[in-house]
Amino acid sequence: CGIVGYAGDQDALPVLVDGLQRLEYRGYDSAGVCLRTEPLTVHKKAGEVGELVSAVPEASDATSGLGHTRWSTHGEPTDENAHPHLDCDARYGVVHNGIIENYGDLREELEDAGHVFKSETDTEVVPHLLEEADGTLVERLSSVVERLEGSYALACVSADTDGVVVARNDSPLVVGRGDGANYVGSDVTAFVEHTRKVSYLHDGDIARITADGVEVWNHGERVDRDVETVDWDVE
Ligand code: GLU
Repeated sequence: CGIVGYAGDQDALPVLVDGLQRLEYRGYDSAGVCLRTEPLTVHKKAGEVGELVSAVPEASDATSGLGHTRWSTHGEPTDENAHPHLDCDARYGVVHNGIIENYGDLREELEDAGHVFKSETDTEVVPHLLEEADGTLVERLSSVVERLEGSYALACVSADTDGVVVARNDSPLVVGRGDGANYVGSDVTAFVEHTRKVSYLHDGDIARITADGVEVWNHGERVDRDVETVDWDVE
């Protein structure tokens, strides 16, 4: 349902928690965060964002990470089915909005290859596919999305590399361009108190955000997306 991502020079956790509280208006049944630590750290819970917040520490060492509010389509609203989802070794963390239509076939293939699943979601195939793929996180996600049918906004982190990598098809994603930090959200409310400079991603885009910048590709070609200024008032 709602996505927030941060890559910068500050602690990611307070930014993610704040983003989740701002995304609550969209409606949800569960919430979670993934911090880029070694290995990745996940906190997730069915229920209110407030319950998640009282279960997470006040600060972390991570300078990038993801947050998600879930509106379940595949699998009950339980702690296990809440996002983020991880691969077997906690190297790849993924949050997702939308539906992966062909997850059943992909899951069967991955289970045959020895992957053990922890949830009933369509989403969990993605971290396992990232683990199976080769190359950088951008290269891995680019090859994984080739295999997905359905609608998705996906945001991923890897224990092996800085930053956040995202992909979209039929589900909105917007990048926020800050100073020493960059953001991603399912809508601008996720990060608008930090920056008003935004770029809306297009279908087929893969973007990598780090503390230093934003890079976008579409079907392998490097592209630039317009930078717009959000001019409405924020509380
Ligand atoms: N289909 C995914 C799930 O049920 C994502 C739902 C959402 O958009 O929040 O976990």
